[in-house]
Amino acid sequence: MTAVRDDTPLWLFADQLGPAVHGGEHAHREVLLVEAQHALRKRRYHRQKLHLVLSALRHADRDLGDRATLMIADTYTAALEQFGRPVLVHQPTSFAAEKFVHRLKERGLVADVLPTPTFALPRDEFEQWAGNRTRFRMEDFYRDQRRRFDVLMDGAEPVGHRWNFDEENREPPPRMQRTLRVPAPYQPREDDIDEQVRRDLDRMDLDTVGVDGPRLFAVTPTEAQRALKRFIEHRMPTFGRYEDAIMAEDWAMSHSLFSVPLNLGVLHPLDAVHAAEQAYRNHRAPLAAVEGFIRQILGWREYMWHLYWHFGEDYVDNNELSAHTPLPDWWKDLDADAVTAECLRHALMGVRDRGWTHHIQRLMVLGNHALQRGYDPRRLTEWFATAYVDGFRWVMPTNVVGMSQHADGGMLATKPYAAGGAYINKMSDHCGSCVYDPRKRLGENACPFTAGYWAFVHRHQSRLARNNRTRRVVQNMERLGDLEDVIAQEKSRTRF
Ligand code: SF4
Repeated sequence: MTAVRDDTPLWLFADQLGPAVHGGEHAHREVLLVEAQHALRKRRYHRQKLHLVLSALRHADRDLGDRATLMIADTYTAALEQFGRPVLVHQPTSFAAEKFVHRLKERGLVADVLPTPTFALPRDEFEQWAGNRTRFRMEDFYRDQRRRFDVLMDGAEPVGHRWNFDEENREPPPRMQRTLRVPAPYQPREDDIDEQVRRDLDRMDLDTVGVDGPRLFAVTPTEAQRALKRFIEHRMPTFGRYEDAIMAEDWAMSHSLFSVPLNLGVLHPLDAVHAAEQAYRNHRAPLAAVEGFIRQILGWREYMWHLYWHFGEDYVDNNELSAHTPLPDWWKDLDADAVTAECLRHALMGVRDRGWTHHIQRLMVLGNHALQRGYDPRRLTEWFATAYVDGFRWVMPTNVVGMSQHADGGMLATKPYAAGGAYINKMSDHCGSCVYDPRKRLGENACPFTAGYWAFVHRHQSRLARNNRTRRVVQNMERLGDLEDVIAQEKSRTRF
């Protein structure tokens, strides 16, 4: 093994940039950054995702000044060989990258592998927590995270004597408004680096999806702190109440848009969590909103990260519902204009135009559609990981295979997240302007979500009947007099 010395440089992947590595024990270490052309070409990424990654790397290079070397090479290996000295590196964020780094270590190009700096809970602590569990409940993990990091706690008790404020955080959108009428999210000011990135991406002529557009997300620690400040001061109070609602004319609503800076590593989760808690303690945000936000960052995001590793590399191959439909071209190409269903069209437009939609559009519109239509979960995972600007490889398997598609048979979620048009009608303002009718399951204007829901229940009735949480929907389905016609209609449906 190559010896680690005080002057051993630190190689940073593009999703590990940020204060956690610029400061602390590595504050004075030389830093290596690599733009690997092969990695940019390997998959069909959203154009804006490539922009964010390159912009983040180049801004890190500028911010670190003389300490940093930014190398542009065909592959990471070629860059390291050319660099000529062994480097330290943080444990990367995917199985494939982890194996790759270990091969580099065997060749002496990497001196040692340090822990990942961009999550709150270390991996060994999660493994102790997981123990021999076979069923995993986010709520248990989340409560232990609150205790472990002493967040929203009064001694041993949760602040407000409740762990969970989901009930207050599920309101439909306000009916007489077209937007939430909250101050806009922080938007970074593009600079010469962004201009150069845009020119370089044009020149590289990569096979991408989505359209180019202004940079909407923070990619540096400084930008991330500004985004955090604006969110906490102006948007946090309305975050919780409407976090599950969808508004056609308000793509960001009160969402934080932190998934990109968090997943690039330029915002540490505990910084966001502590700022939110402080807002509550200073009486500047209601407890339900703060709890809902902290639940997403310290609970769900950390949970997804650890389960990615705990469930193993083959987890993404789970396909318990035998879903083998290939993703249609209009879906893969983000061709929103080919879609009639308003909710689906808007969600796809959001991915096309920004590479981002909020979690309910992911789960209850796009994921729900894919579940009803039996899209192949592995291909769907790949799609979410490449078409979304925050979709790094660790984040999608558990979110898509487990939560959204129930393809793991219930390791992660106790029931499939399938829903008809009634749910979307309640939680969005889309249905009023849609040619389909959320109450209709049969006929020309039958809602594809309502009809698709019953076709899904019919297809999986034996499994759903064995589950206490879904047994009743099978009984409801058996009472439908037109079920056979609905199923025949959905089998032949080619447009949505
Ligand atoms: Fe979506 Fe159905 Fe509502 Fe149209 S009617 S917006 S397809 S849920």
